[in-house]
Amino acid sequence: MYLCREENALKNIVILGAGYGGIKVLTGLLNMSLPNNIQITVIDKNPYHSYKTEFHTIVAGTAADIDVRTNLPTHDLIKYEYGIVRKIDVEQQQIYFENKSKIVNYDYLVFGLGCEDAYHNIEGAEQYTESVQSFSKARHTGLSVGNLKAYGMLTIVGAGLSGIEVASEVRESRPDLNIRLLDRGGSVLSSFDPKIQAYVRNWFVKNDVEVLHHAVVEYVEKDGVCNNGVCYVNDVTVWTAGVQPHRLAQELPFKKDKYSKIVVNEFFQVPTHTNVYIVGDNASSVHSPSGQLAGQQGEQIAGVLGDILSGKEPKKPKEIKLRGTLGSLGKSDGFGSMFQQSLTGFLPRLTKSGVLWLQKRH
Ligand SMILES: Cc1cc2nc3c(=O)[nH]c(=O)nc-3n(C[C@H](O)[C@H](O)[C@H](O)COP(=O)(O)OP(=O)(O)OC[C@H]3O[C@@H](n4cnc5c(N)ncnc54)[C@H](O)[C@@H]3O)c2cc1C
Repeated sequence: MYLCREENALKNIVILGAGYGGIKVLTGLLNMSLPNNIQITVIDKNPYHSYKTEFHTIVAGTAADIDVRTNLPTHDLIKYEYGIVRKIDVEQQQIYFENKSKIVNYDYLVFGLGCEDAYHNIEGAEQYTESVQSFSKARHTGLSVGNLKAYGMLTIVGAGLSGIEVASEVRESRPDLNIRLLDRGGSVLSSFDPKIQAYVRNWFVKNDVEVLHHAVVEYVEKDGVCNNGVCYVNDVTVWTAGVQPHRLAQELPFKKDKYSKIVVNEFFQVPTHTNVYIVGDNASSVHSPSGQLAGQQGEQIAGVLGDILSGKEPKKPKEIKLRGTLGSLGKSDGFGSMFQQSLTGFLPRLTKSGVLWLQKRH
């Protein structure tokens, strides 16, 4: 009799973060027939799903807030809890918030809080640079960039995908600004095909964006960046020079890889706490972090959870196959690799817009 009641007790699945990974776990679960003792609680600081891959458009002022977010789905099974998560107690299975006393209990937890800026202990970097790593930070950065006076000076530190997208989108939006991009390597986008590197390099020459290679930022001040012994006076500095796992992921008492990401088994579970799943930027993976990777992991976690909740042995997830990477150079130019082919120009840009359009419709 007691066992029977326990089996039918309400099971709460908590999805922490309604980003690229979390939303796929949620929609995957909703598309299944789940047992009737399941409740899903989605926790996010924002009452919407945001497209982080488009935050450079918020920075440049070329998209409105509403273009870069969508409403979260409503369903009898889902409860939403909006607030900033402060702490996770994986022994008591409880979630704590900043500025509210409510505690959320979980039976299963999906951790998908995304990543944060890594400042590499560079003095002044956190204090004096603007960020693109959350919606509110991207809005703040957009305000600082938008308020720059004519011919103001903007420096972007980091010439990876997000730094390139920020620099080119701002250039298209504000032809008057002086824009400088600090690149740690000898070529922008060093992990991409040389053809793409050359194309992007030429785009910056043609569009008057100064690129400084072999940058070693020593410190950042309110009005400038000191790089390789030279201090450049500057109005706004945007930081796109690396990311690290979320602070809460780093605090969890789980095994981490050399990038401080949480090590998971083939079911995306934490081996010592198999009711905890890690999705997206915080999960150790052979692939580089991306929205696409987080989405595919999210779909697979939904499948595993669906099996477990239905009392079945979970099927081993298939190997993740990424479709390539696309980047934008403003609104009508871009680059990317798709199906092992390097593409530049309008076609990859159009494809990137198409991907966003599809994401919004889903
Ligand atoms: C400018 C830019 C351009 C990019 N371009 C691309 C691209 O072209 N292609 C690509 O694949 N990837 C790109 N990326 C990377 C991609 O956005 C991330 O890899 C992806 O968003 C990771 O998904 P996620 O589910 O792990 O987390 P996210 O999508 O970041 O979602 C995290 C969620 O957690 C919430 N959250 C965070 N902290 C808290 C808290 N303490 N309490 C409550 N809620 C919280 C956030 O509000 C958010 O909804 C880009 C990133 C940036 C910044």
